[in-house]
Parts: sequence; structure tokens; C-alpha cells
Amino acid sequence: MNKADSELIIGLLTQDGFHRTDDEEQADVILVNTCAIRENAEQRVLGRMSELNRHKHVNPELVLGLCGCVSQHLGEKILDKAPYIDLVVGPDAYRDLPETLRSLDQKHEPALNLSWDRVEHYLDINPVREPGVNGWVTIMRGCDKMCAFCIVPYVRGRERSTPHKEIIRQVQRLAHEGYREVTLLGQTVNKYEDGDVDFASLVKQVAEVSGIERVRFTSPHPSHFPDHLIATMADHPEICAHTHLPLQSGSSTTLERMRRDYTAEEFLSVVKRLRDRIPNIALTTDVITGFCGETDEEFQATYDMMSEVKFDAAFMFKYSPRSGTAAYKRLEDNVPEHVKGERLTAIIDLQKDISMLNNEAYIGRTVNVLVEGQSKKDPEKLYGKTDTFKTTVFPDHPGISAHTIVSVDVTHVSPFTLFGEVR
Ligand code: SAH
Repeated sequence: MNKADSELIIGLLTQDGFHRTDDEEQADVILVNTCAIRENAEQRVLGRMSELNRHKHVNPELVLGLCGCVSQHLGEKILDKAPYIDLVVGPDAYRDLPETLRSLDQKHEPALNLSWDRVEHYLDINPVREPGVNGWVTIMRGCDKMCAFCIVPYVRGRERSTPHKEIIRQVQRLAHEGYREVTLLGQTVNKYEDGDVDFASLVKQVAEVSGIERVRFTSPHPSHFPDHLIATMADHPEICAHTHLPLQSGSSTTLERMRRDYTAEEFLSVVKRLRDRIPNIALTTDVITGFCGETDEEFQATYDMMSEVKFDAAFMFKYSPRSGTAAYKRLEDNVPEHVKGERLTAIIDLQKDISMLNNEAYIGRTVNVLVEGQSKKDPEKLYGKTDTFKTTVFPDHPGISAHTIVSVDVTHVSPFTLFGEVR
């Protein structure tokens, strides 16, 4: 989501006559886009800003700006920690960026723009996207779920869906520019709603755009998988056989404290309905260890659920209290840090074994890989992804062009990668 927002900011500034440079020393303005989801992300931003501040010794005119969720979360307080920051802009206020940057010429005091805008979709701005196979398309902004641990609604505001006609226009443009894959983005992406166009209907229309061979979406919420959405996914080969399904916890009591609106049983039933209809579907997830009051039994339920579901991959985190959230205000962060850490290590180890087993099932199979480019580790190899989101590495070969789909026979695997030979 932040990558998509950065592409939007670049689009907005480019449209206004600014020129982009990747050379920090050449820049008159450096903007850092940020994530506030965990304390650790916030700390790293501060480190990065102080590192960038050294350019001001050479170029005192340099404008150093902070964008995104950390801006919205910390607001003015960020200036106590990093007084050299010139500009603090939240996710709803990018439209004013060019004007704010110009007004900085006269004033030398920091500018803050953290205003909310419930209807802002940035519809008239064409993001400047990274070249490649995949284009991000934001289909909704904000979130209304109010999970007890999560800061998103407080930094990204209320949920709103972008009009579907605009989304289709963007996807057509991407296809025209040569992108083969689109990823639809939203915090609760499958809750999309624009009049009578729901997510199933939107994703079908996107899949039907000529030139788009793969459609992905992230991140969906387990509570919004009606049968007709699963049927649409099954019936359209362009819609990739992969779904990210954030579990957070495998214990219904923890889920209740987290204010997730499903039980462990309901989660398992979504998994079953997806697998019944799309047997080869890959499932990935997010899990939090050590949420307020998490007992050994509750953690064990998460461990057991992960063993049972056998996700293909998982993003796993220690609970990090975020000021402003319901958990921060009303629950005690009472699981000791070392226990959070032990639980995290236990599920990381478990998941590694499961990912390996799942990948081993691919050995001897032929997979279709959308070629992204040269492997970073070995320039003689290419890499890309299967529709099930498995990174696949294989030897380069003069007949293969980037951004096309090739068939690869899988010969060996690691927990994170498939390796093979082109057919
Ligand atoms: N919209 C997604 C959440 C996106 S944030 C959803 O519905 O689940 C990405 C992940 O960060 C979350 O799924 C969660 O696992 C993790 N996360 C969010 N807040 C956190 C916190 N306070 N501490 C630790 N992990 C957190």
C-alpha cells in the first residue's frame, strides 16, 4: 500500500512539474513515506530521517519531508524528536504537497498537513509506477474494522471505495503500458462496494480487461468471502490461485479480545470453502503472538491452527502496542517480551517446516511463471512467480523474454523458493 502511495506522490509531483532523481545528493526535496503499524517500523523511520539529515550539511536548502502513517500518528510530536524535518504530511493530504513545498521557500518553519479527507481518492492523478510486471491499483482507502490492536483506522481514516469505472480505466491503462498483472489494494479489499458493484463483480471486470493475465488482491478479510466471490475466483483463470487470509490468532477468545469479527471455527470454514472450490489455492497469513492476555492455551490454539491449515507462508509478529487503539486504552500489554519472542520463534520454526513441505509437493510438477527479471543472487538465472505466488528461479535462456509466462519443471525447492528448468 505504501509503494502504491509513493507512486501516487511521484505522479502528483511530476504532474506539477517536479523532476525525480534517485540521487539523494542531487535532490532539493527528499520525502520518506512511512508505516506506523508497529513501533519498530516507527523507530526505523526516525533512524532513516536522521541519516538523511546529513545531506543538509552539504545542501542547507534541502527540504526533508515525512509522509504517510507515521506523520499522521505522531503529528507535531515528531518535531520534538527530529526538529530538522521540514514537512509532515498525512495520507489524506498529498494533494496539497506541491503547494506546501512551494510555500516552504518563504517560511523556514516546518509545515504540517494532517487534514482528513473522507472523499479523497486521488482520482485525477496518474501514479508513476515502477516498471515491471505488476501494477498496484488502490481500490479503497482507510478502514472501518477497528481491530483492537490496529492503528490503521486512526492513521488512514474511514473506509471508502474508489468508483469502479475509475479502477477499470486505471487497469486498462496499465494493460496498455504493458503490465501483465495487477494487484488490487485495500485494507479490507474484499469489502469493496460501489453501488451495486461488489468486490466479486469488480474483480471479474478487472480479470476481463484485455492484456491483463493475472489479477491479485491484498489484503482480504476472512469475514468477507461470500460463495459468489469464491465462485468468481474459481471461474476466472486470470484471478490467481492465492489468497492472503490474515488469521492473527487461532484462539476464539483471543480473536474476541482483538475484535476480529470471526471465530477460529469460522476461519476454518472459510479455508475449507476456498479449498473445496479452488483445490490448488495457496493461502498465506498474518499472525500476532503475545496479544494482551494471551495464555499458553490460547497460543497453543494458534500453533495448532497453523499446523492444521498449513499456510504456504506467514508474516508473523510480536504484538506491539500502538497508542490510540482500543487495546492500548483498555487492555494490558501483559505478555512478557521474552514470552512474545519465544512464541514467535515457535511459529516461525513451524511455518518454515510447513512451507518446505508445501513446496516439496511441487517437485516434478510444471508451473506457469510470469517472468519478472534477472535473479538478484545469480545473474545467469531468471525469476518470477507462479499464480500461487511462489517465487521460482530457473536458468536464463535466449528464447525467454521478460514479462511473459513460461512453463517451468520444478526440480528442487527451499521453504521460500521453487527451482527448475524451462520446458
Ligand atoms: N487489513 C489487514 C491488516 C493489515 S496490517 C487485516 O485485516 O488483517 C498487516 C499486519 O500487521 C496485520 O495483519 C497484523 O498481523 C499486523 N499488525 C497490525 N497491528 C499490529 C500490532 N499492533 N502489533 C503487531 N502486529 C500488528
